[in-house]
Amino acid sequence: MENKRVYSIAIDGPAGAGKSTLARQLARRLGFVYVDTGAIYRTVGYHMTLMGIGPRDADGVRRLLDDVNLQISYDQAGRQHMLLNGADVSEEIRTPEMSRVASLISAQPPVRAFLLDMQRDIARENSVVMDGRDIGTVVLPKADVKIYLTATDEVRANRRLKELLDQGQKTNLDTVLREIRQRDQQDLTRAIAPLRQAKDAVVADTSTLNLEESLALLERIVQEKIGQ
Ligand code: C5P
Repeated sequence: MENKRVYSIAIDGPAGAGKSTLARQLARRLGFVYVDTGAIYRTVGYHMTLMGIGPRDADGVRRLLDDVNLQISYDQAGRQHMLLNGADVSEEIRTPEMSRVASLISAQPPVRAFLLDMQRDIARENSVVMDGRDIGTVVLPKADVKIYLTATDEVRANRRLKELLDQGQKTNLDTVLREIRQRDQQDLTRAIAPLRQAKDAVVADTSTLNLEESLALLERIVQEKIGQ
């Protein structure tokens, strides 16, 4: 059987840097599979919440991982959907509460170990654009392209605020800024797989760029690295 060359592009960075939107669009342009790994952590967190297990309950978390059924599917627009025990929970996982829970449970070693294989399996079979916090450092250390996507706290908070208001959630800039800083702090300081720029990552700061300019920047980085 012919062995098809697969490529992997790792995009890491703090909350609200625009990873999901940009990674999805980049994947579509390249014809690669887009993998939003934050959504997988959110789905595990949502499952824990539904089952009444607190995000710091290590034993409870371990027990629940044994019988959770997580699946990823894609719609026509290349949007990733998360299926939890067969039900599409893609909208339910997008609340500020689930951001907080995902960040807390993601610091637990069994959760990270459980999701590691799942993420690597996808990248073994498909060319991917995968976004998260530890993709270039832990999940795909040999990724063909590594991008560390970032922007100032204020810019990220403003973008996240717009997203939440568009979803009809009631919140304000101060609250979102506080939540983003708290989550960055948790993600940066956890003992296992903290958010960190891989040594060989290219930094893309989108503070002063709009969506199109950011996408053009990422495309240039990819083009330079793998000529695609
Ligand atoms: O990217 P998103 O905001 O959806 O991620 C939610 C949370 O999941 C992050 O705050 C982080 O704690 C966790 N996460 C992680 N590793 C990844 C992706 C997400 O720890 N690769």
